[in-house]
Amino acid sequence: MNWANDCVRRRTATDALNAALCWLPKETERYEQSKLDAWKKNRFRIEKPLSPRGMSVMKDVFEHCDTAIYWINNVTKTDTHHIAKIHKHSTPHREYVVTVPKEGQIHGSRFGTCTCGFPRKEGIPCDHMVAIVKVGAIPMLNRVSIMPYWMTREQWQLQFPSGITCASDITLATLKKNSAKADHLRYCPEWTVGCKKGRPKKDK
Ligand SMILES: [Zn+2]
Repeated sequence: MNWANDCVRRRTATDALNAALCWLPKETERYEQSKLDAWKKNRFRIEKPLSPRGMSVMKDVFEHCDTAIYWINNVTKTDTHHIAKIHKHSTPHREYVVTVPKEGQIHGSRFGTCTCGFPRKEGIPCDHMVAIVKVGAIPMLNRVSIMPYWMTREQWQLQFPSGITCASDITLATLKKNSAKADHLRYCPEWTVGCKKGRPKKDK
């Protein structure tokens, strides 16, 4: 657990409403910051087609993969996928099958599957996939396109739409300042005020 919402947690012990009031501006600040980062348009945008997490994961998996320990048997293709068989030199009987789509899928990602189960479990490319990219066994497959779509900048932008503003300033003073008066609304309907006849008497 981090300390990002520490002051909110402390307030929940005494007053939930005050805690919520404290939490809203914090949440807004974070949303606006993420929106700004996701939609940044400059050199940064072109060089980093993935989210910050995506970039660091990509760097990490590619740095730690040693292609010298693998042997790629053969690469075949079906109508839709490339299929590569790979094993370690040290364990030739333990072969894994990596399947990569031929065309880019969501946001151009060609993140596929591997029989080792790691990509499905962790949601990031396994060592086998990375080795295949590194040696160039599958044409037109690069280090960015092997990353899953949920780590792309496009997906990040969908999570923080540029047109949406998170409103945190919802105090009574702001409401009064920014809202228009509704003349047809009354605290009490007109018929509840005085001068009513009352219930007619039975003998009349
Ligand atoms: Zn694998």
